[in-house]
Amino acid sequence: MRFVVTAGPTREPLDPVRFISNRSSGKMGYAIAEAARAQKHEVTLISGPATVKPPRGVTTIPVITGDEMHDAVHRAVPDCDVLVMCAAVSDYKPAIRSARKIKKRKSAFALKLVPVRDILASLPRRHDYLVIGFAAETHDLKKNAKKKLREKNCDAIVANDVSGSETGMESDENEVAIFFRDGETKTISRAPKKNIARELVKIFEKMFEKSLTKKS
Ligand code: C5P
Repeated sequence: MRFVVTAGPTREPLDPVRFISNRSSGKMGYAIAEAARAQKHEVTLISGPATVKPPRGVTTIPVITGDEMHDAVHRAVPDCDVLVMCAAVSDYKPAIRSARKIKKRKSAFALKLVPVRDILASLPRRHDYLVIGFAAETHDLKKNAKKKLREKNCDAIVANDVSGSETGMESDENEVAIFFRDGETKTISRAPKKNIARELVKIFEKMFEKSLTKKS
């Protein structure tokens, strides 16, 4: 199978030295890329500035902004079997990117933010590769994940609760619930991200096999 995995945060520049970003480390996406490679799959990893090293044997495409990630995903998906959108793409970017460093002022000032293009929502509604989205939630996990599954036209959503510090962002461990398009749900209880990644890859392999059976 050919995997395209996105990982890490994106950075949305405000001026040459400042940006808006989030706490994503890239660990979950990198672990999925590594686990897929270990199963002899072809893997392209499209990564924002992560804190971990890219796994061996994987083609890594580094990006910085959400718009760069958008373009890299669109270039990569025509040749893939499964897109795993694990990246924590920044939801907003500064409306204006100043070419010069913004000078310090004495008074308060407001920063105008505009939404970053949603990569999943921008993919063609009909596609012949599997689309896996992620949802990091601090509340109403099930309700929000199911909404994303529908609105972002995904085949499955992997959801995790990021309200605590033990699992989720930056942590080495995670605990996830997977919501499938047919209404089925699976949970993977708390474990190192590398173990969760191996389980997820097995699930994606089964989904892919099932989609082939449907086509033939
Ligand atoms: O809406 P939210 O950001 O919570 O959705 C998370 C899912 O959507 C993740 O799979 C993430 O990679 C993807 N996403 C995207 N484009 C964005 C923001 C998020 O594809 N601009």
